[in-house]
Amino acid sequence: MATYAMTGGATGIGAELRRQLLEAGHRVISVDIKEGDILADLSTVAGRQAALDGVRALAPQGLDGFIPCAGLPPVAKPPSLIARVNYFAVVALVEGLRDLLQARQGNVLFVSSNSAPMIASDDSYIEKCLAGDEDGACADIDAREGHIAYAGSKRAVTLWMRRHVVEYASSGVRLNAVAPGITVTPLTEQVFNDDALGAVMKQFGDSVPVGRMAQPADIANVMRYMLSEEASYVCGSVFFIDGGSDAMLRPEDF
Ligand code: NAD
Repeated sequence: MATYAMTGGATGIGAELRRQLLEAGHRVISVDIKEGDILADLSTVAGRQAALDGVRALAPQGLDGFIPCAGLPPVAKPPSLIARVNYFAVVALVEGLRDLLQARQGNVLFVSSNSAPMIASDDSYIEKCLAGDEDGACADIDAREGHIAYAGSKRAVTLWMRRHVVEYASSGVRLNAVAPGITVTPLTEQVFNDDALGAVMKQFGDSVPVGRMAQPADIANVMRYMLSEEASYVCGSVFFIDGGSDAMLRPEDF
């Protein structure tokens, strides 16, 4: 039996992953703003600290894995809230749990998105995220659009993962990411209902090469594998689970 900690286990992809891990006999500590073992608002520094303290109290012996899955959609307001939850909370929790992960040679599975490659790495918002400048990144993105806040947060989190692979692997901790495509969850429901982004998102959903949008289980099935011992040589990977959308949009890139 493994012990996993995760954020965002209340609904959507995270809830399905939590269900699958519990069904497989593992222990799951869930941090969420809505419901879970630890209630915390990860957009705030105090909430992040409460999450860290809570996980540490429940798993003093260490963690076999951590999944920072909580995330806000491109329609969340203000855009800086997206940066705070999707990027800064993720990095704060991964760094804060590092010793617990090292104790059991655990792994971290980040949740990126197939939208991440849509923003350039040298975008000022991404550079501020990666520099750890939360105030600067938030001020930058509040003057811009929600979809940049979202895709940029996912690009930044993926770059952070790639940049730290060697350092974490040297202490026995694997870092990987999944990059889901459009998945039917409460998050996408919010986007579909948005006046500005709803139609574009539905059109994108209709264009998925395999002919359908993902269900949470499509994503969780792969995540469960990447967290497992069977994936012990998978390190630094970004696994696109998007029905072929990324290959359709970037056929010459990988
Ligand atoms: P969801 O809205 O069902 O789940 C998000 C979870 O995060 C919820 O349990 C919510 O309560 C929690 N959360 C939100 N704000 C929080 C906060 N401030 N503090 C603590 N918890 C908070 O959405 P989902 O689609 O299942 O998304 C899960 C992850 O997958 C997110 O990181 C999202 O960006 C990513 N993702 C989703 C899609 C998609 O199409 N649904 C595509 C690519 C990536």
